[in-house]
Amino acid sequence: MSVVEERPGGGRSPRDAVDQAGRRRTFAVISHPDAGKSTLTEALALHARVIGQAGAVHGKAGRRGTVSDWMDIEKQRGISITSAALQFEYRDAVVNLLDTPGHADFSEDTYRVLTAVDAAVMLVDAAKGLEAQTMKLFAVCRHRGIPVLTVINKWDRPGKDALELMDEISERTGLTPTPLTWPVGIAGDFRGVLDRSDGSYRRFTRTAGGATIAPEETLSADAALAREGEAWQQAVEEAELLGASGQDHEQSLFLDGVTTPVLFASAVSNFGVGALLDTLVDLAPAPSGMPTAEGAVRELTDPFSAFVFKVQAGMDTAHRDRLAFIRICSGVFERGMVVTHARTGRPFATKYAQHVFGRDRESIDVAYPGDVVGLVNANALGVGDTLYADRPVQFPPLTTFAPEHFAVCRGRDAAKHKQFRKGIAQLDSEGVVQVLTSDRRGDGAPVLAVVGPMQFEVATHRMEHEFGAPVDLDRLPYSLALRTDEASAPGILAAARNAEILRRGDGELLAVFPDKWGLRVLQQNKPVLLLEPLVAAQ
Ligand code: GDP
Repeated sequence: MSVVEERPGGGRSPRDAVDQAGRRRTFAVISHPDAGKSTLTEALALHARVIGQAGAVHGKAGRRGTVSDWMDIEKQRGISITSAALQFEYRDAVVNLLDTPGHADFSEDTYRVLTAVDAAVMLVDAAKGLEAQTMKLFAVCRHRGIPVLTVINKWDRPGKDALELMDEISERTGLTPTPLTWPVGIAGDFRGVLDRSDGSYRRFTRTAGGATIAPEETLSADAALAREGEAWQQAVEEAELLGASGQDHEQSLFLDGVTTPVLFASAVSNFGVGALLDTLVDLAPAPSGMPTAEGAVRELTDPFSAFVFKVQAGMDTAHRDRLAFIRICSGVFERGMVVTHARTGRPFATKYAQHVFGRDRESIDVAYPGDVVGLVNANALGVGDTLYADRPVQFPPLTTFAPEHFAVCRGRDAAKHKQFRKGIAQLDSEGVVQVLTSDRRGDGAPVLAVVGPMQFEVATHRMEHEFGAPVDLDRLPYSLALRTDEASAPGILAAARNAEILRRGDGELLAVFPDKWGLRVLQQNKPVLLLEPLVAAQ
């Protein structure tokens, strides 16, 4: 650890990095489309009074908000694929909510965001329980070992039984749910919640359209009984049941990823949103030292360091502007500082540094561990790259995730061969697509693999407009990829007629299958072949 000292000129010391990092709560919401993530984001921002009225944060068809004009595709679709992080102060804390694109724009970026957070909020629709996309994102959180808070949303609407939902969480995620609040009234008859920390009752009051902060009334247990009668009694009994089965919050188990604290909410009415913010501030971890590629730890007090978790290109086609989003790991970031790009050893001037959320960009002058900064003119930066000041450091490469869509990519114009090669290599290095090859295609055409099909459109668009090499994509019928090795490959091809073996740029061999059924047969007949799940493979 470096000594605490005043930096010449800057006046900000390593101590500032520690103090400021201690105030940070950097998290993302993991959920399935329609669980209420945008509504919750708006409600959180409203609670922290970033915006005057719910409805101003997110852009979606039919809603006021941010339709980015950075990419034509976005314009046509009315969706945003460029938002990054919302920052606001709450109590003494600075909350960084990183956006996880989730509808048609679900992509590898969605997974990568989870490499830049210290905690996740798993948002569950009370009627639907744990859905596919939530489980995929949860797998990434589990892989990283980050703590997960659970919010059961839409309790104002008919849904599953609360105890049943707790069983579902523990069976499907392996986490023990430890409810902090417990609903009074079944889903669809939301009266309020019992606060398990002190046995008090927080009464739910509806507001018109959820446009303002719902007044929350706190009553004593006696007053709650008098008011709600049987519904209160049942909540008390069920809460006792949870206690008896060891489902009480214990901070160390939460931080170790063994348990998940649970809150019940109605995001659309802003109920439970304040409790979520309080829980984030009180329980979620602040940034801490980051493991390096060499197995050491970059401490918060060390000089500035950060890694790139997302690169957004093509926002301004005229200038080929690239925006790289970094998560700060140590030290203090000051706009204008010149840092080193670890992969190339070259200096990188951070003249233009911005907060970016949706269309809103504002300059950042100073930022601390846990914060996200968008760096403009970042043409040399790729996903996973490390930046540092003074003392060199290299963070481990970012995990690559299991692709689910595959397509052979061919240039339309043979004369544009060079541009084609350059463009494909660029998209690969940015992590827009995974580029795979196989001997099966005589012309050597690469196979592009992605998490969400939207990435194909981005790739096609950029190949034509940015690299001047229009392409055709031929979709392949695979949806499942597993890691394998040279020794197992022939056995897999012999036993599974519809499988294919593809090689990734980093040398990894992937066995791809049309669906899990062919794979199951193979695993039953040839259990010795190496077939390892990639992160987020189902
Ligand atoms: P996202 O796809 O996860 O971002 O979901 P949205 O925030 O767009 O919400 C999907 C739909 O569910 C919208 O019509 C919301 O108004 C509605 N919704 C969100 N939260 C709640 C809630 O707590 N109660 C009810 N009844 N509806 C909700």
